[in-house]
Amino acid sequence: MAMLNDRCRIRLTPTSSMTFLYCLLLAATVTMLLSGCSSQQARVDSHETLNAALWTQTSAEYAATTIQAYQLAAANMDQALADRQWTAALEQDNDYADLPPAIMLDLDQTVLDTSRYNARIILEYGSHAREHFAEWCRQSTAPVIPGTKDFIDHATRQGVTVFYVSARKEALRDCTTRNLQALGLPLPAQDRLLLNDGSASTSKTQQRARIAAQYRVLLLIGDNLNDFVSDSKTDPDTRRALVDVHAGRWGRQWIILPNPMYGNWEASLYEYDYSLPRDERLNRMLQQLQQ
Ligand SMILES: [Mg+2]
Repeated sequence: MAMLNDRCRIRLTPTSSMTFLYCLLLAATVTMLLSGCSSQQARVDSHETLNAALWTQTSAEYAATTIQAYQLAAANMDQALADRQWTAALEQDNDYADLPPAIMLDLDQTVLDTSRYNARIILEYGSHAREHFAEWCRQSTAPVIPGTKDFIDHATRQGVTVFYVSARKEALRDCTTRNLQALGLPLPAQDRLLLNDGSASTSKTQQRARIAAQYRVLLLIGDNLNDFVSDSKTDPDTRRALVDVHAGRWGRQWIILPNPMYGNWEASLYEYDYSLPRDERLNRMLQQLQQ
């Protein structure tokens, strides 16, 4: 802009009003173009999970929310232990009243705080990729979600079997085990840690059915709808309707924790098409904003 004005000043004479107007118009046009470029640049440089990751990592409100959820879970578990008709698993279709009690917890953003991985996406990786997550996971440094350890210790003292049921791949078993042990979370046997080997038999639904065949499932705890029900990997409206279908279970047999960073809620906005370029993904997400 300074160069442009200098050029205008050099060419300007008292009688060259047309040239002066031309320069003003040119300067205004360039200003508009530069302004447009800079807002375009701001969008590209921003990261869509920045607020979500910061809220998870720094806000008092996030910790209060998860502690609240786990204190509710503890109170409900005590009630569930006394009520032999209580079960949390829709897959529990057996004669379960006298089966030993168990609880099922998802891992990421339920037990383990993986927001540091999201921070690394923002600062370094640029996007999620399976190999990125594996690299981060091998450090085994995820903190525990506030409130989780007190709850799990309470369940263990009550004689309740704790199952961790995760979509993490089997290849991550060792680093996941190290992370749980470093946090002092109970893992008395590897069959309490159920991971995904890529087959349908290790879907969350199948894992719930397998546990429900041997235990009375007192509570399901997770951050994603598929930690509770099958067939939830669908469009946002259908997912929302599923919540209403099971309205009586939330805050009772089912305890859900917030995860604004990622999950099927987000992928459903672009039809789970992870191959889409980032710009196209963002476009589809922007189209679904309501104002
Ligand atoms: Mg999770």
